[in-house]
Amino acid sequence: MAGGQLEQAGAPGPMGPREALEAYAGAMRDASGLRAAARAAREASVGRTVSFSKKAFVSVTTLCRDACSYCAYRTGPGGEAFMPERAVRALLENARRHGCVEALLVAGERPEERYPAAASWLRREGHGSTAGYLARCSEIALECGMFPHTNAGNLRRDELRLLRETNMSVGMMLETSSERLGGAGMPHEAAPSKRPAARVRALEDAGREGVATTTGVLVGIGETPAEAIESISEIGRIASRWGHIQEVIVQNFRPEGLTAMARSPPAGAAHHEAIVAISRLMLPTMNVQAPPNLTPASYGSLLDAGINDWGGISPVTPDHVNPEYSWPAIREVEARTRAAGLDFRCRFPAYPGRLGSLPARLRERALAVADAEGYVAGSRWRAGS
Ligand code: SF4
Repeated sequence: MAGGQLEQAGAPGPMGPREALEAYAGAMRDASGLRAAARAAREASVGRTVSFSKKAFVSVTTLCRDACSYCAYRTGPGGEAFMPERAVRALLENARRHGCVEALLVAGERPEERYPAAASWLRREGHGSTAGYLARCSEIALECGMFPHTNAGNLRRDELRLLRETNMSVGMMLETSSERLGGAGMPHEAAPSKRPAARVRALEDAGREGVATTTGVLVGIGETPAEAIESISEIGRIASRWGHIQEVIVQNFRPEGLTAMARSPPAGAAHHEAIVAISRLMLPTMNVQAPPNLTPASYGSLLDAGINDWGGISPVTPDHVNPEYSWPAIREVEARTRAAGLDFRCRFPAYPGRLGSLPARLRERALAVADAEGYVAGSRWRAGS
């Protein structure tokens, strides 16, 4: 498909899967038309603002009952099963001093179901589950002046109800809707929580509970272009049905040492950027994010593919999920964004349009430090920079 046709296709409505597959094939020869269409769609739907979240990554537990082949986050038992409260508080107090806004609370999938040490730690500390302890960590985050966002795998409805009292949003990557990637020798073979039916059920439960949710796809783990497009389409279906999906991350696989996929090639830049652009065109009004630390040499080109968010960037903690890839400095991301003629704003873990539907306690805290458009006021996030 020629670039001019694509630009027109971006304007009237969402791109369908068949058209997306044709556009993908065209982009492998020349991506300029697809990129131009994605930029036009971004401008028409979400405007010229590109946001990010100034965060601290709190690795609450690296134990996990699953074992994804690419995972560099999960560890085995040994040492303290969970980060204790005092360490969570110390980390977040320091983050607050550096102007961080989001407390990203991360845990592996239900470690208490696999590791006796995790179950006994939770019992000893008076928590019935990992989600229960995450709720306590979220309270600590609020006490420190931070805004929690929890990412702990497939949460049940009772867990979502508990966490929505303190969390502005939760994160649950769909990663892929392909059953094939859970087969023998594939990345999700030993990860039942990543089976598409389980993920979709959890994402829909978050919709039933009205919890703002960030999801996304992981590209370059062996999926075909059609499977990547089908995954975006599935997210679109869930988003339209429940209205709670606030953001779609298009994350590119990068191999990490000491993982089963350490020798697998990284996602190709052309594949990644095409799926970013197709996400923008299939979900034109969605916030589309790609992390800047996973394409360190060329992340500026993701702006060209239609993203309007950089995700969380931390000045105080590493990316524990991708420990070999440091975040760029926020001022560098800001300079690249502004050089592309786009505005650069710090957001809360909930996007501006969702602040009004938060529980009163969270809404009032956010509005106290928000600007008139619902982004974080510069005086709050630039403090300590
Ligand atoms: S990616 Fe998540 S679910 Fe998979 S092993 Fe790592 S922590 Fe567990």
